[in-house]
Amino acid sequence: MRVIGVIGKKDTGKTSIICDILKHVSGISVATIKKTHHSVEIDTPNTDSYRMKENSNLSVLSTGTKTGFYYDGMSLYEILSKIDYDLVIIEGFKEELIKYNIPKILMVEGKRGLDLLDNQVIMTIEDFKYDIKEVISEITDKAVVPTYNFNCGHCGYNCKQFVEKMIKGENNLKWDRCVMSYSIKITADDKIIPANPFVSDIIKNTIKGLIFSLKSVENPQKITISFDDESNNDLSNKIVVKTIENEKLNSKKN
Ligand code: SF4
Repeated sequence: MRVIGVIGKKDTGKTSIICDILKHVSGISVATIKKTHHSVEIDTPNTDSYRMKENSNLSVLSTGTKTGFYYDGMSLYEILSKIDYDLVIIEGFKEELIKYNIPKILMVEGKRGLDLLDNQVIMTIEDFKYDIKEVISEITDKAVVPTYNFNCGHCGYNCKQFVEKMIKGENNLKWDRCVMSYSIKITADDKIIPANPFVSDIIKNTIKGLIFSLKSVENPQKITISFDDESNNDLSNKIVVKTIENEKLNSKKN
């Protein structure tokens, strides 16, 4: 999964350029993440779906043609750890992009927005003038696999230095020098754990050997295994029944 950000001040064309990129790329899976400071009502209060969503950690609404997954509010780290697409384009999240060393495109209008320029900007687009092929080529070259500041040193630098040097084109650094580009994805309690290439290969090859020996497996492109260290399926030890006042309970009936 490779990620890239788009930042800029209000009305500089951030969403429009993302839509243009989406229109011009095919053959890969693409996800978009947008940060908004407006309060967005994603459902209508008091509808059945709203009431279910209000009281669960995850509620899924399916209309047959669209499916919406509603989680509680999440940080960028949490969002990225939950998704797996070829390319993820992030709009906004300025501070988090800096914190996690995610390269970005900067949209400016006149001089407005130039104060956001830093060493992690891969291209600056002024007054919405750009060549879409050039934009896509820069993304293809410089979008990174999220490093989450693991700072393992495998590339010879820390994560921040790696990204900044790669953007400048120093030492022929490419995104795939980062260990995360060929590491298997391991999460423990939703925290992503980096593995060096040696360990990655051992785990990968062992799992492949086991999976390929199973019946009905034909050359899969992607294998995902997830398990709990101990059985978490026994609800009786964990569930707490809350006492709710009658008045509130009655208002929730029907
Ligand atoms: S190899 Fe990747 S995760 Fe490790 S320090 Fe370099 S950029 Fe960071």
